[in-house]
Amino acid sequence: MRSLPLAWKLMIPFALLILVVGSLGGFLIVRDLSSRAQTTLYASLLGRSLDARSFIRDRELYILESANLSANLEGMRQAVADGRADAVTELLRSVRALKTDLDLLVVTDDRGIGLAESVRSTGTKRSAARGTSWRAKSIVATVLRDGQKSAGLMRLGKRTLVTLAAPICAAATPCTPTGSVIVGLDAKGIAASAVEASGSPSQGDRGLAIHDLNGDPLASAGIAAIPPGAADLSSDRLIHRLARVGQQQVATLYAPLELQGSRAGTLAMTIPTAPAFSSVRGAAVRLAVILLVAMAGIVAIGSLLARYILRQLRPLVSTNRALGFGDLSARAPVLADDELGELARGVNLMAEALEASVSDLELRVSERTEEVQRLLRERTEFFASISHEFRTPLAVLLRHAEMLGDPTYTKSTRWNNEASKMVKGSGLQLLAMVNDILELAKIESGRIDIDLEPLRLADVVDEMRSTIKGLAKGSSLKVGIDVPRDLPVINGDRLRMRQVILNLVDNAVKYTPEGGRIDVDAAAVNGHVEVTVTDTGVGIPADVGDRIFDPFYRVEGTTTQRGQASSGLGLALARRLVEAQGGRLWFTSAPGEGSMFRFSLPRDPGGIEVRQLQDATPHEGRKNQ
Ligand code: ADP
Repeated sequence: MRSLPLAWKLMIPFALLILVVGSLGGFLIVRDLSSRAQTTLYASLLGRSLDARSFIRDRELYILESANLSANLEGMRQAVADGRADAVTELLRSVRALKTDLDLLVVTDDRGIGLAESVRSTGTKRSAARGTSWRAKSIVATVLRDGQKSAGLMRLGKRTLVTLAAPICAAATPCTPTGSVIVGLDAKGIAASAVEASGSPSQGDRGLAIHDLNGDPLASAGIAAIPPGAADLSSDRLIHRLARVGQQQVATLYAPLELQGSRAGTLAMTIPTAPAFSSVRGAAVRLAVILLVAMAGIVAIGSLLARYILRQLRPLVSTNRALGFGDLSARAPVLADDELGELARGVNLMAEALEASVSDLELRVSERTEEVQRLLRERTEFFASISHEFRTPLAVLLRHAEMLGDPTYTKSTRWNNEASKMVKGSGLQLLAMVNDILELAKIESGRIDIDLEPLRLADVVDEMRSTIKGLAKGSSLKVGIDVPRDLPVINGDRLRMRQVILNLVDNAVKYTPEGGRIDVDAAAVNGHVEVTVTDTGVGIPADVGDRIFDPFYRVEGTTTQRGQASSGLGLALARRLVEAQGGRLWFTSAPGEGSMFRFSLPRDPGGIEVRQLQDATPHEGRKNQ
């Protein structure tokens, strides 16, 4: 089922549904028609059976009338009592002339011996006889014994006759039989006539059979009846049977055959079922045709519909496939304004979003790649710079170590003092660099401890006033410090702030020629407190920009004014320390005129009471001297 094309998946349920509904409807309609046909069939059968029975009743009356006529003929009683056969034969002549279709007309004496016997065998041929003993026939015996009329089916050779016997009475009441009259009609002839009389033009479409009480067929005409079962014969009710006899399907209705009020045998009326059921067959065929046409129509309409839908779906499928294979420029055509059109628009929107996010991702990946490459480059440069910076003090140390170990080299006391200064200076320079590098690494990795607290800047600066002045010691530089006491309380790390201010003042001292001036000021600006270190030094070229804050960066062509050491790490560290306290550090400068370095720190939000500043361990050691 999964691999079936969509058209079939849509069609099969419809076809199955119409097949099931159609078949069920067809079955119910055919069943209804068929039960109606059976009712019609039964009604027709019943009508014909009634016609046949009334015909037989008519024949019965005819033979009764004949028997009465014969028995009551003038002189008949006397002639029979006298046993005069000739007289009886003569008397019967008038009856035979009147009732020409009688097949049997017999007059017997009181012992049942025929005085005149007229039997018609085939056609109109009659045989006349006398002297036959009729008493063996049960109806004759009954009549002669009881003096009552009796009727029944009588076998006569191969023939069966519907027979009635009437007594010829010696006196009127009670009747003392002196003889009897036996009148009969051929059952086969009655059957044939009854069939003819039962209302239909041809005999081929019906049949009538007369059975005795044992079920043996006695006479029949027309189409053969279904052989009766015991129930059909014993019951006094009408019994209806459907069966195939010979080539055709027939229905037989069994009805009791009564003569003179008592059961004489069974009458079986038979008709073929085909005419009644042909309309049902026709209806069934018409239904089947309608069902097939409806199914074909549904399949045709459904397949057209499915094709129409598939035609719109196919571009969507191929667009989806193209997108799946990475062609993000693929778009589905919007062919209609229905749900499929909506779907196509949705696919296109999705593709656009996908394309945008992929290109955004590519951009970000390339940016990140560039960033990573830049960081790698910087790291390499950083290590190259470290190595380079370490070389000079290391070279000084090594040279002095070599000279100390050289016995041929004469070492004066003065040389020893100088050498000791050089070795100590280089060692301190190396130590300062290592400290700065470690500090930078800590900041970069986020492991630096910043201990923020509410501070009054004037207290911090007052505390380091002598250290600031000490940096300019031995030079003709003038140092001014102006930090108002009413500045707002700030939120900062006391030691880190000292470190930053000393670094900026140290730089100002290093890059300001003799006779210059250095000022440390502070002011409140927009919710911040700004600290400014201004000098009248060599200045910084405009194109240097923020590279000055890169580790190991030194302005080309700028040298320290009094031979101080320079590592290029001070400003990098200072900026990161200010930022770690939530502030920022920047500078302005004019080459040849001086520079102004400035950092700001946020005010303390709580404005809480500032605790008295206590003496703190000086951290000037962190700054390279
Ligand atoms: P260092 O002073 O040890 O070289 P810094 O990071 O403190 O390292 O400074 C980097 C560079 O910036 C210095 O080498 C110098 O060229 C320049 N510079 C810093 N401060 C000043 C200043 N006040 N005036 C002129 N140039 C300065």
